[in-house]
Order: sequence, then C-alpha cells, then structure tokens
Amino acid sequence: MPRSRELAQANLENIYRIFTVPEAPDSTLGRVDQAISDDLMGFLQDHIVAVERDLDEIEGDFSRSSIPEDPTYVSDYTEFLKEKLVSQSVHTASPGFIGHMTSALPYFMLPLSRILTALNQNLVKVETSRAFTPMERQVLAMMHRLIYSRSDDFYSQWIQNSNYSLGAFCSGGTIANLTALWAARNRLCGPSGDFKGISRVGLVKAMQHLNCQGLAVLVSRRGHYSLGKAVDLLGIGRDNLVTVETDENNRIDMKKLREQCWRLKGEGILPLTLIGIAGTTETGNIDPLEAMADFAAELGCHFHVDAAWGGPTLFSDTHRGLLKGVERADSVTIDAHKQLYVPMGAGMVLFKDPATLSSIEHHAAYIIRRGSRDLGSRTLEGSRPGMAMLVHAGLSIIGRKGYEILIDQGIERARRFASRINAHPDFELVSEPELNILTYRYIPARIQKILAEATAAKVTEINEQLDKIIEAMQKRQREAGRTFVSRTRLTPGRYKGGAITVFRVVMANPLTTEEILAAVLDEQSEIASHPDIQAILRQIKF
Ligand SMILES: *Cc1c(COP(=O)(O)O)cnc(C)c1O
Repeated sequence: MPRSRELAQANLENIYRIFTVPEAPDSTLGRVDQAISDDLMGFLQDHIVAVERDLDEIEGDFSRSSIPEDPTYVSDYTEFLKEKLVSQSVHTASPGFIGHMTSALPYFMLPLSRILTALNQNLVKVETSRAFTPMERQVLAMMHRLIYSRSDDFYSQWIQNSNYSLGAFCSGGTIANLTALWAARNRLCGPSGDFKGISRVGLVKAMQHLNCQGLAVLVSRRGHYSLGKAVDLLGIGRDNLVTVETDENNRIDMKKLREQCWRLKGEGILPLTLIGIAGTTETGNIDPLEAMADFAAELGCHFHVDAAWGGPTLFSDTHRGLLKGVERADSVTIDAHKQLYVPMGAGMVLFKDPATLSSIEHHAAYIIRRGSRDLGSRTLEGSRPGMAMLVHAGLSIIGRKGYEILIDQGIERARRFASRINAHPDFELVSEPELNILTYRYIPARIQKILAEATAAKVTEINEQLDKIIEAMQKRQREAGRTFVSRTRLTPGRYKGGAITVFRVVMANPLTTEEILAAVLDEQSEIASHPDIQAILRQIKF
C-alpha cells in the first residue's frame, strides 16, 4: 500500500494534511470504500463473521481508556476496524434476520449519505444549511399531507412559512414523542393573564395555576418505553404515565381507559395527553384511533398517535384504513429509519395545527433569532444533520406507489409466515399480524394437548418451563448466526393474564423469501431437538 503519502498524514508536522489529502484508491481504506460501493451485500457477507464472539471478549478490544498520543496510519486503523468492529457487527441487512426493526437499505442511501457527510450542513440555523432548510420543511409537509390530507391551499400557506411548523425533524421516535408531549404540556400550561406559562415559571406554579395535583399521560400497556423517559423529563412523573390494559389483540381497552380517567379525576390529576399506538413495537397492533380521538375530544385533551413503526402503512391503499382516526390526532410520530428505509437517525413529529410548536419556541441572540427562518427555534435538538435529504430521496425515488408495494408485501409475508406457523404442529402463533409483526412460540404438539386440559396452576407451571426453552432457543439461533428472530414477553388473553416468552418477527426486509421463512422454522425445530432442550420438555407431563 502507498504508505509514503500516508506517512505524511501520520506525522505531526503535517497533521493538517488530513483535511486536504484524499485517500489513495489502492490504500486499505480506498479498497474498502470501493468494495462497499461495488457490492455492499457482498462486503457485509464477507466481513461480518457468522459465528459471534462473546461480548466479554469484544469488550476486551475496547478497554483501553487512554487517548492515543501519536497519529496512526489510516491503513492500520482501517485494518483494526475490519478485524475488531466490522467483523463483530450485526448483519441487519441480512434477509434471514427478521427480528429487528432495522433492515436492509435501498442501495442509493449509501452514496447519498456520502454527499450528506461531504456537505456537512447543520440544520439548526439557515446560515449553515441554506437549501437544506426549505427541503426539510418540504419533507415535513409531505409527511403531514400523508397523515392529514389538507388542501393545496393549506400547504402553500404553511409549507415555507417560517413563523410556523408543520412538524419537527429529529433523530428518532424517542425525541419525536418527547417533542409532542413537550408541546402539549406547554400548550395546556400556556401563559394566560398573570400566569406566565410553564416554560417560564415551572411545573409547581403551573399546577397551582391549573388548580390540580398533577398531569397524566395515558397509553396502553404496549406503549413504547420512550414515553416513560418523556414524562420523567417533562416533570410529569413516571407514575403519571398511566398504562391501560389491552384487549386480546393488544389494543387499548376503551372501558379501562375511561375508568382510569375517572380515577385520575378523583385524584385531581388532569389528563394531558391520550396516546394511541399505530403499530405497537412488540406486536404491530393498532389502537382504535377513532374511538380514542372521540374520547380525547370529550376530555378536551391532546391526542397523540405514536406511529413510529406503523405510520408508513398510510402509503397503502389496501391497508391505510387500519389507521382510521389518525388524521384527528393533534400530533403524530413517524420514524424514517424504520419503514421509510432511511439510515439510522431520522424521525419526525407532525402537528395538525401549524401553531402548536410555537409553545416550545426558543431564541438565542447569536443564532435562531426571532423572526429568522432557523429550524432550531422549534426543535429540541440543537445541531442536527440534514437527514431529511435522505427522506426526500426515499419519497422521490421510491414514491408513494413504491412504498405501497413494500408495505403491502411486508404484511402479506407476515400473513404467510403466520399460516406456516399455524400449519406446523410444534409452533403456536401468539399474536396474529395486523401489520407486519407477529409473535409465536415453540410448543410441541404433545404439550399443546396437555396445556389445553391443564388447570390454571399447571398452565402457569408449564409456561414457565416453555419460557426457558424459548429463551435458550432464541439465544442459540442468534449465536449460530444463520437466521435471527427476537424475543419478548407478552400476556396473551388465552393464558389469563400470565406472561409468556415469545419469538418476535418483523417482516421489514423486502429480500426475505419464503425459503428463508421456512428455514427459520426448520432451524428452530433443529435447535429444539438438542438433548438439553429435549430433557426439559420430557419433564412436562400431565
Ligand atoms: C421505535 C419506536 C419508538 C422509538 O423510536 P426510536 O427511533 O427508537 O427513538 C417509539 N414508539 C414506537 C411505537 C416505536 O416502534
């Protein structure tokens, strides 16, 4: 490799050259770069090892805390990355890895990401982003339109009106949910009369002003854990994130929701926000959004929909109806790094009313001045990359009809996998796929019979043994590195409130074929035939 030029770079006198000398195409980094451009899947296949090392061992490679004193060769560093980092990464793009919400990316995302990095814009202020600012506003308007379908006039009025925002772009669903609750809180506790508003005087005075004991956020027990962080940060308190029971399809139980609201009223606690979920993280179910919108209107509170996962279902003519009522939400979270197939670090929250985000508006003297076009005046985050460009790229290149195919096929694939599980004597489907997520577990036909006739106490006992088996099977499958499903714990109605461990599958990778799905179940059956697992199974008797 041509170290002569690198020698200059690994040299303190010439350190500035790292900013000016481009990488030689025949250097180690140059070759890696080329390999990734030529055949990304091949590169990942070749360099991520199938059999993973123990995490403790990997930690050993990253346990030095002193900062290197001297510069090093880029080639040497690239070798280090290949050997220690790339090889031990997770092959999220592999079509056999159907356990996560992170899947393959369209090929153009990679070169476009390089342009993004090369331009290195900062979306906090227009001075460092220029055209990226109106582009981000356009992306927000497009996603707003997908949800709320307002008129051409509405969008031409608001799309580039910098005094208002149709939404906020951010790093993901967590910040999107937090931003929605922040805006809702500041609106409910906004300035009126002598009261200067919660953002000025804080929670205690706000509660005195509203004459209440606290605020509550209500969501089903399937709500995402990001909501816990949000209520913690906003001073609402985790105990006031009220998690409501669900029906047998993991949807919020409206009767229980009403009961919780009466209870809160008795305690002098004001409901701040009702949250409907469009695509629960674990099971992909959708709350009855229409009924929730009605109830939020009755309570006069903010209605938020967490559609981080399921939002892009709106692209589908066939399945859009599942989200009926979402257009009545005051705010909606959508993750771009999930079903919009954008690289990690892109999420959005959209607001029905372009004035809602004014409640969190903030200014500084040197940037994001009053009246400026700076997006930073209405975002939680400060410096921010131009990830909206990649959403813009996806929406433009794939288009509504392209995303529709991806969504429809994901749901179709999940249904076919569900049929495959139903047809298999040794597996039990635990949650039907409403979208493209399903859960199931391994339970041999013999034990299914025992369970069907067992007493409640016996059912619990058997389920505990099965939980151990599911956990062991999932770990072995992951370690073998051929296929991957995740696992979680659920409380399906059929086991009377008892929690069980299940396999969880997310059908997001368009390259996952029927053969791969068959191979997932075959591999699991094979793992189950292992003597350790058979020994536990033999203990399960009437
Ligand atoms: C993924 C997800 C989130 C959190 O999003 P991040 O991008 O991981 O911060 C919130 N809600 C739901 C329903 C999700 O699926």
